[in-house]
Amino acid sequence: MSGIVSKFGGTSMQDALCIKRSAELCLKRKSNIVVVSATAGTTNDLIKLGEVSEKNQLVEAKGLLQKIEQKHLQIATELGLADSYVKQVQLLLSEMDSISRGISLLQDCSAKARDVLVSLGERLSSVLFTGALEQKAVGQKVQLLDVRTVLKTDDTFGRARPLVSEIAKRCESLIKDLNSVIYVTQGFIGQTLNGATTTLGRGGSDYSAALLAEGIQADVLEIWTDVAGVSSTDPRIAPEAVVIDEISFKEMSELATFGAKVLHPATLLPAIRQNIPVLVASSFEPEKPGTWVRREVKNLPLIRALALRKKQTLVTLSTPEMLHSHGFLYQLFKVFNDHRISIDAITTSEISVSVTIDNADTLSQQVISDLEKVADVQIEKDLSLISLIGNNINHTPGLAKKIFETIADVNVRMICYGASRHNFCFLVDESHGVSVIQKLHQKFITNS
Ligand code: ADP
Ligand code: ASP
Ligand code: MG
Repeated sequence: MSGIVSKFGGTSMQDALCIKRSAELCLKRKSNIVVVSATAGTTNDLIKLGEVSEKNQLVEAKGLLQKIEQKHLQIATELGLADSYVKQVQLLLSEMDSISRGISLLQDCSAKARDVLVSLGERLSSVLFTGALEQKAVGQKVQLLDVRTVLKTDDTFGRARPLVSEIAKRCESLIKDLNSVIYVTQGFIGQTLNGATTTLGRGGSDYSAALLAEGIQADVLEIWTDVAGVSSTDPRIAPEAVVIDEISFKEMSELATFGAKVLHPATLLPAIRQNIPVLVASSFEPEKPGTWVRREVKNLPLIRALALRKKQTLVTLSTPEMLHSHGFLYQLFKVFNDHRISIDAITTSEISVSVTIDNADTLSQQVISDLEKVADVQIEKDLSLISLIGNNINHTPGLAKKIFETIADVNVRMICYGASRHNFCFLVDESHGVSVIQKLHQKFITNS
């Protein structure tokens, strides 16, 4: 198979005008599969709805239900959608109402129930988009595909992992008419083999699109968003950030993993496996060239981009028993593994190990007490992880000196250097994170 998979993020779906513009873009680009996110803000509202329903806060729940309902019905009206689409929207809205009621009655919003509830964001937006695209795609067949029939996952609700070979099989059997049909489907959501709805984690629509691109062995994956491509750092932090014309898979994987929200960190895994080039561009300014993410790129600068990842926790584990002994690291990592906690950066000394984890991977009392069985545990919160991403980083003399001279007044808590050609990262106090990025951007990008 082959084809183009185009994904539209929440802001590209935020109102009738954006949906129309995105639909026109699909036709212009000759997209074969269109993957959509929920309309902007809806996933947050659905998560909040789950929380207030669980606490039986009926007034707040009613307010959120009405907000989501009005937003989607208004878009349907403004788009002038056919009755059949409006009915589908209404059915989904009444499903939302019932689930919220069920959660209130049970006063329990399990991860499994939450996934069903939040799946409604993408299920609603995909109906709106299909209707809008059908109006414009004269002479072409448009089909709404329930992605759950294809995108099979394990049962880690809230952060489900895809079952890649199952997805490939279903792509082959269910997405058959790529030459004559434009398929519109949902990002972010999936389904276990037993039929339970799952989600891939926040921002996961990029990942869904990449998995489908892999499933159909697409020629191109397009990520349409609200910025004109991948920039040298988050443009909200440094307005002088410049859009990168092309970046390698390896650099972009590091950039996404270390904080650039523009792509979900797992997005490139399927693209790398199938060597599918990825275009990141703005649906608001589609005439701009955007950023190409590819296996091979022409330029390989020392520092290409900077990323900031906030809300990091540093866990330092120490024990004199580590001196000249073996197996200590195994025991520690086993605890993190048993609790499915992902570690980002690590440094070790003779008797201690420091690891960083994202605050989202909460350190429960159980994790701490399991770690305490092996070592003394020290926890520092509210840190920011600063990453410089580029090429040949661990073979360039004088780089560390330049970095730390630029931010000489800031206390650095932990440094990770040497393991990757593409990344140099360190931790600073959260209050310094933004200014450190700004200073380093000035030094390594603007003035380089
Ligand atoms: P979407 O809803 O389209 O998925 P996101 O909000 O998830 O969009 O991602 C786009 C946002 O990512 C941009 O608005 C921008 O603020 C942020 N961002 C962070 N780092 C970068 C970067 N290096 N380049 C471009 N955008 C970035
Ligand atoms: N709607 C989901 C979220 O807000 C997924 C996505 O937009 O990528 O996290
Ligand atoms: Mg996103």
